[in-house]
Amino acid sequence: MKLTDSVQYLKGIGPKKAKLLARLGIVTVHDLLTDVPRAYEDQSVQTPISQLIVGEQATFSGTIANVTEKKAGRRNMTILTALVGDGTGFVQVTWFNQPFLKPKLKTGRRVLVTGRPAFAYGGRGQLAVNQIHSYEFLEDSESGAAHLAILPVYAAVDGMNQKFFRTVLRTLLENLPELPEVLPASVIAANHLMPRRAAWAAIHFPSDAETLKEARRRLAFEELYLIQCGLLLLKKTSAEQSTGVRHLTSSTLVRSVLENLPFSLTRGQAQAWQDVCRDMEQPTPMRRLVQGDVGSGKTVLALLALVKTVENGYQGALMAPTEILARQHYDSFTAQLADTKIRIGFLSGHLTPKQRAAMHERIAAHDVDIVIGTHALLSEGVQFAKLGLVVTDEQHRFGVEQRAVLEKRSSVTPDVLVMTATPIPRTMTLTVYGDLDVSQITELPPGRQPIRTFLRTSDRRPLIYQYVRTQAEQGRQAYVVCPLIESGEESDLPSAADVYDELRYGILRGIPIGLVHGRMKDAEKDDVMQAFYENKLAVLVSTTVIEVGVNVPNATTLVVEHADRFGLAQLHQLRGRIGRGTQASFCILVSDNESAQARERLGILAATQDGFQLAEEDLRLRGPGQFFGTHQHGLPDLKIADVLTDTDILLEARKAAQETLGRKEDLSFVVPILTAQYKEQFEHITNT
Ligand code: ADP
Ligand code: MG
Repeated sequence: MKLTDSVQYLKGIGPKKAKLLARLGIVTVHDLLTDVPRAYEDQSVQTPISQLIVGEQATFSGTIANVTEKKAGRRNMTILTALVGDGTGFVQVTWFNQPFLKPKLKTGRRVLVTGRPAFAYGGRGQLAVNQIHSYEFLEDSESGAAHLAILPVYAAVDGMNQKFFRTVLRTLLENLPELPEVLPASVIAANHLMPRRAAWAAIHFPSDAETLKEARRRLAFEELYLIQCGLLLLKKTSAEQSTGVRHLTSSTLVRSVLENLPFSLTRGQAQAWQDVCRDMEQPTPMRRLVQGDVGSGKTVLALLALVKTVENGYQGALMAPTEILARQHYDSFTAQLADTKIRIGFLSGHLTPKQRAAMHERIAAHDVDIVIGTHALLSEGVQFAKLGLVVTDEQHRFGVEQRAVLEKRSSVTPDVLVMTATPIPRTMTLTVYGDLDVSQITELPPGRQPIRTFLRTSDRRPLIYQYVRTQAEQGRQAYVVCPLIESGEESDLPSAADVYDELRYGILRGIPIGLVHGRMKDAEKDDVMQAFYENKLAVLVSTTVIEVGVNVPNATTLVVEHADRFGLAQLHQLRGRIGRGTQASFCILVSDNESAQARERLGILAATQDGFQLAEEDLRLRGPGQFFGTHQHGLPDLKIADVLTDTDILLEARKAAQETLGRKEDLSFVVPILTAQYKEQFEHITNT
């Protein structure tokens, strides 16, 4: 048996079961081996029968004293009941519809049972176990200790039960072929790690809690260590192989732009700018991530860095995730750089082919210094004459590969600056952006009024929209956000279009109001957004398309309909659309959801404006998959390590990976393993 063999090679798995397993993504023996239990049942402790408690699952053993058989129901179902005693008491154990057990259930035979006791029907306080979780027959001499264990619980689909999984995994582990070690011996020794094979055996069938913990630690370490090695290698090779741009220190143009800003940098901005300058002045390419909450003022860093590259005779690119955001940056940069000779170009998919071709030409001819745009910057025709810096705004919308595409668009490797508002927990930052250095902006610019957040039920909507109306009449703007309703789904929830009609023909009659939603054509969407941006619309009803980055400081009110339908991080991001000016801002979350979980989530949002804390709560409540969207980060999903709780293991693994990079023997051991395991992700480093 090889790890790449089909699961059908295993005894107990026929074509039918193989099909079911395939539905869980389990095709090969290796898939099955690495199908980590989603939970465990602790059956390592036996309870004396006299101490069983109604309703609480427990494990006990005893001798069968008496067996009765009944038939019931139209289908003549077999019901087998055994009276089991252990010297402290008796309990009735019943098996439904398992006639094949009849010859095995013999008086005097010993049995080990895990199940949930209840009062026996008409049994005067006698306990009965009708919900059997698992059972084993014991030999006379056995105490049952050998069968007692922490048992794995697997994610299953209909047609498979835990017993099936446990049996095939036992078979697999008994016949497991050689499982080559993937960690250098020095790393195993230094970090006191369990051998690989033992770890896989123990993660399925741990002998005790301590062993399980060690097995998990070993496998999580392995996972994180290999990714860290990959990311660090990526960073190292790109630093070594590529000739970066060495930006000069003297920068009169940057200084004049800085001096002309209507504000001075906050401490966090100044620190981040220092980091960026230091990186840009190195001969090796910069790869820096600037993390700062919504409204912390990341855009100015992009501006300064772009000016710096232009001052050094290079071109710069700024890539934004949406058309409106790109255009907003274009407008504000054009205004802020009006006194300079810097030429700014705009590129998006919405230009006519002719305009686009013209812009491509200007980029190639170094006829523009800064190009601001959308994904269109990544398209084939874009070739920079002399690209010195690439800035991507709201990074979590771009994958690792896209970043790589832009970096390859020039003869020298440009510096890369990535800006994100997603307050990624440290574990995640290091696993996803391990090849980037991180600067954090932790404070907001001074003078911001805190946003006040309220939770209201929908019977208050008339009052809420009356308030929106009053605000509009005073010249303020408001967002009204509705959850995205797919057609056919829960049609009792009003869509953004419904709310839009309700408001414009009702309480907001006469107020200029617009609608944007995902199904509109991009051009239409942009027109509406632009009108709101220019204050031609006082109220904007939308789905979450406004989530990212739009800056309209005059917007002071945000109403979120059915707020319980959004994730916390998303609500926080939405809330970041207001509170951008000097006026007091209000966020009103409308929800009739009475569930404790919904109340808790929205309560957290009302109580804090700390995006970092909210993101952690969100991750905890929803899991990393939904939080980041699937596969957005372009790195392998973690099977064992937990992005929230395994920070300690991560830091150990990162340290070990850093050491490995400096140790030739270990490195030549690890590189082929990396190639084999994370082929797509790290191909480009291991190929070189
Ligand atoms: P984000 O980090 O969300 O991208 P922006 O860069 O859009 O934030 O900045 C939000 C607002 O704060 C903008 O109107 C910007 O002009 C303003 N701003 C940025 N830095 C400062 C500062 N140091 N002092 C005052 N206002 C600032
Ligand atoms: Mg921004």
